[in-house]
Amino acid sequence: MKKIGVLTSGGDAPGMNAAIRAVVRKAIFHSMDVYGIKYGFQGLIDGHIEKLEIGSVGDIIQRGGTKLYSARCEAFKTDEGQEKALKQLEKFGIEGLVVIGGDGSFRGAQKLTEKGYPCIGVPGTIDNDIAGTDFTIGFDTALNTIIEAIDKIRDTATSHERTYVIEVMGRNAGDLALWAGLADGAESILIPEAPDEFDMVIDRLKRGHARGKKHSIIILAEGVGSGIDYGNRIQEATNLETRVTVLGHIQRGGSPTASDRVLASRLGSKAVDLLRIGHSGKMVGIQKNQLVEHDIMEIVGQKHDINQDMYKLANELSI
Ligand code: ADP
Repeated sequence: MKKIGVLTSGGDAPGMNAAIRAVVRKAIFHSMDVYGIKYGFQGLIDGHIEKLEIGSVGDIIQRGGTKLYSARCEAFKTDEGQEKALKQLEKFGIEGLVVIGGDGSFRGAQKLTEKGYPCIGVPGTIDNDIAGTDFTIGFDTALNTIIEAIDKIRDTATSHERTYVIEVMGRNAGDLALWAGLADGAESILIPEAPDEFDMVIDRLKRGHARGKKHSIIILAEGVGSGIDYGNRIQEATNLETRVTVLGHIQRGGSPTASDRVLASRLGSKAVDLLRIGHSGKMVGIQKNQLVEHDIMEIVGQKHDINQDMYKLANELSI
């Protein structure tokens, strides 16, 4: 394989730039040409494609977002859209594609694979919701952003003796909430993977208050429901002054952590290795700190499980 392409798709995540850089540099290291496709699958259909050189990816390893921009593209879900994309790839002589994105983007890559076109997926999403990999690119950075925000909220929570409900991202997954809750010593963590334990949350708040506890932090994954609704229910049930913070898109931005940069570099490089040896329809991932590969077809149908021991521990530590 002499010419490959790379695109970022779906929700952006810090570390995507480091992954692009790794794909480009690794390919050039092996004397391949690399093309950057802007705006995800939409840009592929529209032909927003340009050759990348070593210098094109200089000074981006530390930047959040994605230099190649990202987009959502309904047209790519149709056969017609996919055929248009294949024509563009043929026009530029691009023989294989690295798709950096989440679950949806992998479904897109799988569609091209089924049409006989070599594609490799690199998991880039803050949600950590992809099966077959312990971590996705961007998760660690988002987690650290959340921790920083909660530390600040904790200061005001203590000063005013308030209960705080903090809604964090994660789509249908609870990993961001679980890890943030454990890292920040939250009183309760509400995630879609666990049963709704409203009564237990209330019980814990009342017990804490009776003990003279000045504040409480409850972390709610967006997949469970609205933080505002949850806050209202808590205030009604406890009569404690309750405030809600929805952290929102600050969780997506910022300079990637060292962990995310290293992960992105390893995964991006591995994706190029797989294309070179003729693999297709694979996702690269990391499990037990070893790089792994899985069939995308298997991955997209599966759920990324939370670590049940961590959930249990969080409950034990917040008695
Ligand atoms: P993420 O990759 O972060 O999960 P999305 O679910 O929005 O983000 O998917 C990103 C893009 O991937 C979509 O806008 C679409 O272009 C493509 N895609 C998603 N699902 C499919 C599918 N079933 N077939 C083809 N393309 C898809």
